[in-house]
This record gives sequence, structure tokens and C-alpha cells, in this order.
Amino acid sequence: MNISNFKEVMDDEEVIQLLVKLVQIETENPPGNEGRLVELLVEIADKEGLCYEVDEYSPGRFNVYMSIGQQSSGIKLLYNGHTDVVPAGEGWSVHPYSGAIIDNKVYGRGSCDMKAGVAAMLASMITLKRGLFQPQGFLLLALVADEEEHQSGTLRLMEKYPDFDYAIVGEPSKMGLVVAHKGNMYIKVTATGRASHASVPHMGVNAVEEMSKFINYMESYKKSISERVDPLLGPPTIASTMINGGKSACVIPETCEAVFDRRVVSIEDPKAVWEEIQDLVGEYNKKCKANFSLECLWEASGMHTPENSRIISELIEASKEVTGAVPETSIWPAVADSGILAAHGIETVLFGPGDITVAHKPDEYVPIDELLNARLIYAQVALSMLKGGEELGIS
Ligand SMILES: [Zn+2]
Repeated sequence: MNISNFKEVMDDEEVIQLLVKLVQIETENPPGNEGRLVELLVEIADKEGLCYEVDEYSPGRFNVYMSIGQQSSGIKLLYNGHTDVVPAGEGWSVHPYSGAIIDNKVYGRGSCDMKAGVAAMLASMITLKRGLFQPQGFLLLALVADEEEHQSGTLRLMEKYPDFDYAIVGEPSKMGLVVAHKGNMYIKVTATGRASHASVPHMGVNAVEEMSKFINYMESYKKSISERVDPLLGPPTIASTMINGGKSACVIPETCEAVFDRRVVSIEDPKAVWEEIQDLVGEYNKKCKANFSLECLWEASGMHTPENSRIISELIEASKEVTGAVPETSIWPAVADSGILAAHGIETVLFGPGDITVAHKPDEYVPIDELLNARLIYAQVALSMLKGGEELGIS
């Protein structure tokens, strides 16, 4: 079996129609409607004879896993795609769940982010299965929930199946290789002062004013971390993003809360970052009137895949074979499920059809040629990395 056979066992039209069907099923998150896809996915897996498992890891939240090969030997390769989409919102010129095809593009919420990646990965599994590929290793396709909100789908996946060598996350990378992204932390800082009547402000400790001074104090930290430049990702950042304090116009506020977004680069250890912020606040507490406390509301890991990773070279080779061109290597602007995989020691690349800049807004689309090329590249990478078993050829 090779690339030229892939279209024989599953033609382009079938791949396109698979994406259209996926787009037509609304899986908005919030609230988390991924379960609506389960019936279709199970029907496909049954029809194609793929091993599968439906994992309702919390009420109404579903991951679906499909696999070929055995976990007991060889390379373990993970294909990861999220099935949730952000709410459609207003302003569309086509129905967001029509899956309309216009000018060789499929339109719809999630067409790009990332049902095209999901369709291409699923089609690559179907292609290999129909081609009677007998892998030496193991390929798991994890179709996960909740990437757009709390990443609970991939966190669950790692609880259940943490042991992979390599992974591809099919996010829309314009068919380029994304090899790094920052991690992040949302840090809540609470200033606690003392309330008093606003007519006698000196009787209280004004938490809003104290927080304002604290935000200024953080300027020097912001400056110092800007000198910590990661060769690929640039400097880490910190920004105050939310503030909330005071209950009445005539009361000196007792508390004020601020949230900081801290982006973490790969030359930093997230634990050390947390400790340095704790130290900073500890020092500040010694010299101010209010008391400051800290809470980490959220943490997402970053990713930085080694340049010489086999998953990178395999994707480059397969892309060259399919498109004739070497894909560009880049970094991702935000966090993604890839960070969770990287934190488990899995060498991971984000690679998929579509352009992230058309996602999360009206008239989202994916070019059909990228969808079709992605199917071929995913199938070829799995074939190349997991070959070695008995090859039975095309049925
Ligand atoms: Zn996405």
C-alpha cells in the first residue's frame, strides 16, 4: 500500500462528504454538545471494522477513541482532534451548520477548527483499514471533547492512555508544522484591606487603591521577564486582564481582585514561575498596608518539540510526497491540547488543514485541497512510522 492507492480505497468525494456530515452536526461548546457526534462516529467505526471505544468521562461529555494495531509492540502514535466548536454567533452569509461547498471550500462553524482535521484523520484511518494495513505498532485516533473551554477531553485521554511516542494534533496550521507554543497561567491576586465609610477614608485600607499600586509594582517584573528570550517563542509575558473591587460608592473597599495572564515559554519551568510570583507577592506584602494572596485559576502547558524528532521528519517527507513542497515550520499563537501531550513526554506537532485566522468568526471555511492533502499525509505518516507488519495489500 502507498499514497497512490489511498484514493482507490477511499475517493476524494467520500472524504469531502465526511467533513460535510461532521460540520452539519452542531457540537457547540459551551455548552458542550460533542455527544451529538457519537452516533455518526460509532456508525462509521462499525461499518469500517475499526476498534473503538466511547468514553463518557463526565455526564454528557464524550471522547471517542478508534485504533488500529496492537499496543503491545512498536511505535505508539496518537492522532488527536477535538470535536467541539465555538458557538456560531451572528453575521454568517451561509447557514453555519449547512456544510455549504462554495469555490472549493467547505463552510461552516468548525469546518476549519477543527472538523477538517478530524475528517482527514478519520479518513486516514478508514483508508489504512480498507487497505488492510497491518501495523507493527499502534495508532489511536482520539476524538476529544472540550478543547475550546477547559481541555477536559485531552486531560481525560492522558489519564486513560498516557503512553504514546508521537502525536499529531490536527489543528488548522495551513498545512505547516507547528512545533512550539507557550503555556499559560491565569493567576488571581486578591488584595484585602479594611472597609470604612468613604467620608473617613483614612480609617480604612483601600483595597482598590492598593491593587492599583500592586499593578504598577508588577511593571518591573514584566520588564525583567521580557529579557528572558526563548529562541523560538520570544519572551514570556504577563498582563492584567480582569479587575473587580468595591461594593458601594460610599464605602472604602475591603477587597479587590485582579487576574493576570502569564504566558510561559519553554526555557522556563512553570513551577519556578509560580514560585517566583509567590515570592514577589510575599515581598510586596512586607511593605504594603493591604494583604495580598494568590491563586492559580488555570494552567496549560506549552510545547517545544525537538527539531530532530521523527514526527517532524515524517511529516516533512509525507508532505513532500503529497504536495511536492516542504511545509513551513512555525509557532502557534495560543495554547492547544498539544501542550498536555507534550507535558506527558509525547513528541507532538500541530498539523492540519485550514487557517486559524478564519476560525472563531462568521463564514469560517476550509479549502478542500488542504483537507484532501491532509488525509493523504496523515495516512502516509502512519503507514511509514508503523510499517513492518505483514502487508496484505489492497483488498
Ligand atoms: Zn481548535
